[in-house]
Amino acid sequence: MSTIEVAGAQVDTRHWINGQRVASSETFTNTSPIDSTFLGEISRGGQAEADSAVAAAKAAFPAWAALGPKGRGEILHRIADLVEANLETLAQLETMDNGSLLRSHRRGVMPRVAMNIRFFADWAINELHHEVFETRGHSNNISWDPSGVAALFTPWNAPLMLATWKIGPALAAGDTVVLKPAEWTPLSASYFADLTKQAGLPDGVFNVIQGYGREVGAALVANPDLARISFTGSVPTAKVIARAAADNLTPVSFELGGKSPCIVLEDADLDLAATLAVEQYDNAGQVCLSGTRILVHENIADAFAERFREKASQIKQGDPRDESTDIGPQIHQVHFDRVKGFVDRAKAEGQNIVMGGEPNEELGGLYFKPTLVKNPTPGSEIVTSEVFGPVLCMQTFTSDEEAIAMANGTEFGLAAILVSGNRERADRVAKQLVAGTIWVNCFFVRDLKAPFGGSKKSGIGREGGTWSFDFYADVKNTVVSPTGWKE
Ligand code: NAD
Repeated sequence: MSTIEVAGAQVDTRHWINGQRVASSETFTNTSPIDSTFLGEISRGGQAEADSAVAAAKAAFPAWAALGPKGRGEILHRIADLVEANLETLAQLETMDNGSLLRSHRRGVMPRVAMNIRFFADWAINELHHEVFETRGHSNNISWDPSGVAALFTPWNAPLMLATWKIGPALAAGDTVVLKPAEWTPLSASYFADLTKQAGLPDGVFNVIQGYGREVGAALVANPDLARISFTGSVPTAKVIARAAADNLTPVSFELGGKSPCIVLEDADLDLAATLAVEQYDNAGQVCLSGTRILVHENIADAFAERFREKASQIKQGDPRDESTDIGPQIHQVHFDRVKGFVDRAKAEGQNIVMGGEPNEELGGLYFKPTLVKNPTPGSEIVTSEVFGPVLCMQTFTSDEEAIAMANGTEFGLAAILVSGNRERADRVAKQLVAGTIWVNCFFVRDLKAPFGGSKKSGIGREGGTWSFDFYADVKNTVVSPTGWKE
């Protein structure tokens, strides 16, 4: 069967290559994390599918590039219109496939999917300009030219949201695209492909190939016809991709994992601090930006812990389709076992687990309770490795300097949350934190105009505004002499 019905939507299980549906002889099984319901058998691509998708994208490139930002923008806005027209379907589909909250898909995520596309379409038209400047009478004319075929790799924790952070700027820049969605969440990308067709996107400009990272993903990365590789995922996979990309010197952009700090200074508003800290359980901890290391000043640690406990005890775990649910399941049995493995090893080491620490037996399946590890041994696995589940650590410090050293003391540098009542102090501390994004007295405020990315092992490059185009486009300077003209 080439289509399946999920949450009322007809979803094609085949790849999307050159404006056509293409099946593979092999498939992989897709299930819902909500209750392990079987969703369908999905085409499992390999070398042949990767090659034909890149060939299609390469053939479609010259015409798409020639269309210019305005021509491309019209089609991109039509795609965004269709995302909005199908918002409820997309929200339900994504929730069935990845188990994130339906209410946030409806109100936050899917509207942002449309916005991602509109924003970058408009940015290419209105903002990609650099003032002409002179060098000894010669003018420097800077342009962002289409670069070719971009291969995009996305994880499962926010599938269409993260895909469109890449699809938007890549297509707006005039590149053509081959998207490889994560194997645990292939459905929204397939549905989105149908919307691009309806919007009139020319065949071959956008392609989707499905399957395992080590199979179709590896084949795609190794293709010498790629102009760009943009990857969001884990550090170990990024290393494999970087090695493969090196053979062809294909430029890469990496958005990777984190073990971000949530720092509560002595002068913090404790209620705000506890609210922000508890938010780090959002999406059942499957958020790259999560401040999973809560660092609290010793003098307020007990009062803070009490408020944290109060607020955390109100988190309602359950079916992500229920409006009242705050956090849902882990994405997949393999991931659930990984998260549980971290917690079991922490227990075996004698770490102090003061909340959760086990599967939610009432719900069964892939639901793991929000967990808190208090004062973990410095340097231990639970406080240095990314768990990517509902597991937070709480540690104390006695000075701003110690807080900064602890905050910066991992291999990651994706984000940091800082809670303080004093602007000057917050400013001084924030300046010394090493991370792509610092949120002061807030969390998750993200403007597409702003740079986004990770320091240290959390990534290479930045996305957002012109930074996205600096990656996807070939940035060119045309230097024109004042002499030699015949007219
Ligand atoms: P992952 O690294 O396992 O997989 C990501 C993607 O890469 C998937 O599509 C996968 O199929 C593909 N892949 C795997 N092996 C490959 C290979 N050899 N060649 C090519 N492609 C391959 O990551 P995941 O488990 O899907 O996602 C979780 C990770 O993503 C976490 O580390 C999280 O922090 C990170 N993440 C980062 C951001 C960010 O913006 N920085 C956002 C979301 C998630």
